[in-house]
Amino acid sequence: MTRAYNFSAGPAALPEAVLRQAQAELLEWNGVRASVMEVSHRGAAFEALAAEAERDLRKLLAVSDDYAVLFLQGGATQQFALLPMNLAAPGQAADHVVTGHWSAKAVAEAGSYVDARVAADAGIYTRIPDRPQWRLSADAAYVHICQNETIHGVEFQDAPRDLPAPLVSDFSSTLLSRPIDVSRYGLIYAGAQKNIGPAGLVVMIVRRDLLERAGQPRANILSYAQQAAQHSMLNTPATFSIYLARLVFAWLLEQGGLAAIGERNARKAGALYAAIDGSGGFYRNPVDPAVRSWMNVPFVIHDDALHARFLAEADAAGLMALKGHKAVGGLRASIYNAMPEAGVEALIGFMRDFQARNG
Ligand code: PMP
Repeated sequence: MTRAYNFSAGPAALPEAVLRQAQAELLEWNGVRASVMEVSHRGAAFEALAAEAERDLRKLLAVSDDYAVLFLQGGATQQFALLPMNLAAPGQAADHVVTGHWSAKAVAEAGSYVDARVAADAGIYTRIPDRPQWRLSADAAYVHICQNETIHGVEFQDAPRDLPAPLVSDFSSTLLSRPIDVSRYGLIYAGAQKNIGPAGLVVMIVRRDLLERAGQPRANILSYAQQAAQHSMLNTPATFSIYLARLVFAWLLEQGGLAAIGERNARKAGALYAAIDGSGGFYRNPVDPAVRSWMNVPFVIHDDALHARFLAEADAAGLMALKGHKAVGGLRASIYNAMPEAGVEALIGFMRDFQARNG
């Protein structure tokens, strides 16, 4: 068996060099005579690792000291509940811009704790409503967006401007894919299992003044401020996920950091969208070209009956996990940082060949 080009939306492909390093030191890590999974998170070796992970993440994203970096658990989904609990008073307003499945889910979950308002809703998730049309509240605790809709393939290319409240963004499927200006956000959060590492870890970057908000009655374990005060070690963190994330951060720095990675990702996405748009209608991506995702490319074949054959033949050709999410059907290629340009080229070659045989 050889490893396939893996287009999974998440858990997703990890850089092969990272997996090889993890394999090489799985039984005996860093001179501690045990694997990294088998030692205390309170020991000097693991504490040093966690500090290195935070240092490298800060370096990659140029995160200033005005922000705390947290390594949490519970997935991005748990943050849909913890955000309102930590940032808003009970029943206070929180504005949401809905551009797809995940931002819709965030509003629904926040509704248990706040007056979760929809400031704008794209309706059909192929575009982002124009900023002047957003109906933002003067009294909102924050404005929530999903930076990149993993299922619908709609991505904010930048942080929206002129907001009356701090911007909170779900970066699950796009963090570390290109440089961003962290200072434009109040809080950034991301489940790890796309561009960061294995599932079980959530990375959060939060402006420290927001940690001073009273929020709502909650246990310490649900408090971002408590987590920040305890360096995310209020309880046992996801140690193996943090270890792998640390290897991924080091790998990204070796690749030249996010400027270099962003250029590569722009080339990958550009080539794939060009192949879809240039197929004469055989393949189609419905998203407004101005907001197409660099990471998740959903597309359909003009004849629905061909999807099953495409998936089976692609899989046999070493191109795996191209099935679209059931909410939209069709196909989806997730082309995160670990997908090499050669993988995207192989997919494009297969698509041309498939069209020639079935067009
Ligand atoms: N937000 C986005 C943008 C996602 O892509 C996902 C998962 N695919 C989630 C939230 C939910 O993440 P989790 O399963 O880690 O809770």
